[in-house]
This record gives sequence, structure tokens and C-alpha cells, in this order.
Amino acid sequence: MIQLEIKNLHVEIIEDNKSKEILKGINLNVDKGNIHALMGPNGSGKSTLANVIMGNQEYSISKGEIIFEGKNITDLKVDEKARLGIFMSFQYPQEIEGVTIRNFLKTAYQNLYGKINVMEFKKILDEKSEILKLDENFSERYLNKGFSGGEKKKSEMLQLAVLNPKFAILDETDSGLDIDALRSVSESINLLKEKNPEMTILIITHYKRILEFIKPDKLSIMIKGKIVMEGNAELVDQLEEKGYGWIEEE
Ligand code: ADP
Ligand code: MG
Repeated sequence: MIQLEIKNLHVEIIEDNKSKEILKGINLNVDKGNIHALMGPNGSGKSTLANVIMGNQEYSISKGEIIFEGKNITDLKVDEKARLGIFMSFQYPQEIEGVTIRNFLKTAYQNLYGKINVMEFKKILDEKSEILKLDENFSERYLNKGFSGGEKKKSEMLQLAVLNPKFAILDETDSGLDIDALRSVSESINLLKEKNPEMTILIITHYKRILEFIKPDKLSIMIKGKIVMEGNAELVDQLEEKGYGWIEEE
């Protein structure tokens, strides 16, 4: 079943009083419960697409539609989309002074699902921390303060686990991670997916490394604001051998 349908999406941004088209007619279908990888070289528009799906108002949609579970969500705002179950991790998570992970997550949870008491929330947090094999005290730490790349990703995974969205967009979750951290984050994603097979994951990356640990059901390749090729996990191996050049030349 198609859960997210993007139809002929054109997106532009105003820069120096001129509009610049970044996405040039994207068509993309993501099936419910799939792990769908979106790959492409730097600057091809992957993060722009992620931001637009999530409702970032910085970008303007000049043409096309975004349909989620049969509903036209093209013009909805970030919080409305979040309440429909769409989630996005941040490519460059910010440090927030004086806010513990626990409090940050509780606020985020309540924004989506309404008020929850301390004990109820503790139960959810403990359960998810256990799935992710996180230390008990992890959520008492201040958000992103002094975190290594791997720890930032862990806190993102905990956020994903606690909010338990229908549709998760993971943008460059693999960036800046060494192989052990990458393996650990991939394992977390696989465990969460195992616990909740209904969850759809759109995983965005320009390296194929993470896709050795997380097997995508489908793969779409974006170059210069267009989806130029689609396939399954086997296409990943071709990319490794040939890079993106062979696609661009066609
Ligand atoms: P990717 O995530 O594939 O690396 P991006 O979506 O970040 O690509 O960027 C695609 C293109 O759009 C790049 O040329 C980038 O400079 C431009 N772009 C993206 N966001 C902005 C912005 N907020 N302002 C100006 N240009 C932008
Ligand atoms: Mg990007």
C-alpha cells in the first residue's frame, strides 16, 4: 500500500531576490512499512525533499502535491504533519542548554499525544531505553551537550523510539560516524523496525555504507533535483562499483 505519494513536486527557494528551483518534478511513492532509501550526491536536493515533506516553510512548493495516507498534506505545517505521524531526525542536531533528554522527549511526546504523567512516561522511556540498550542514566543527560557523534545519534534513536511515528525520515543518520557507531545506530534502527514493522523509514544518505547494515526494500536515486533511477537493494551494489557518474551521463 502506498503511504506517501509525491506527485510532480517542484520546490524553489528565494535567494538574493531570485527564485532558484531545487526540486524539479519529483515523483516518489513510498509503501507503508517499507525501508526506502533515497541516495544521491551532495547538493542533489535530498534534504530539501525531506524538509518539504516535513513542512519546512523556508521552501516554497510551486507545483505538485504530497499525499499521505490518502490525505493531501502539501500545505500543512510541521506540527500538523508531526501529529499525523511524520517524523524527521535532524542532520545537525543542536545543543540545547539545560534541557535533559528526558524532559525534551516528554515535551515532544506531549505535543503529539497529549498530557502524560511522570510515571507513565518513565515506563515508556525505560522500555525504549532497554530496546536500544541505553544506559539508565542516558536520558538524564543534557541534550547533545558534549555528545560524541554516536551519542547524538543515540539520542535521536531514542526520540524515534519514544515518539514511535508512522513515517520516519532519517537524513544522513550515518554522517560522521565511525564504523562501530554506524553499526550500533543501524542495529537500533533494525530493532525499532522489528518491534514495529508497520513503521515506514525513508533513509537518506549519499554513502551506501549504512545500507550494508539496513537492507532497503526500495532505493530511489536523486540527481540535480530529479529522481533518475529506482530499484531494489541490488542497485546499491551497482552504485558502489560505478559511483553516480554512469547515471548522470545517460
Ligand atoms: P542534499 O541534501 O542532497 O545534499 P540539499 O537539499 O541540501 O541537497 O541542497 C540542494 C541544493 O539546494 C543545493 O544546491 C543547495 O545549495 C540548495 N539549497 C538547499 N537549501 C537551501 C537554502 N535554504 N537556501 C539556499 N539554497 C539552498
Ligand atoms: Mg543533505
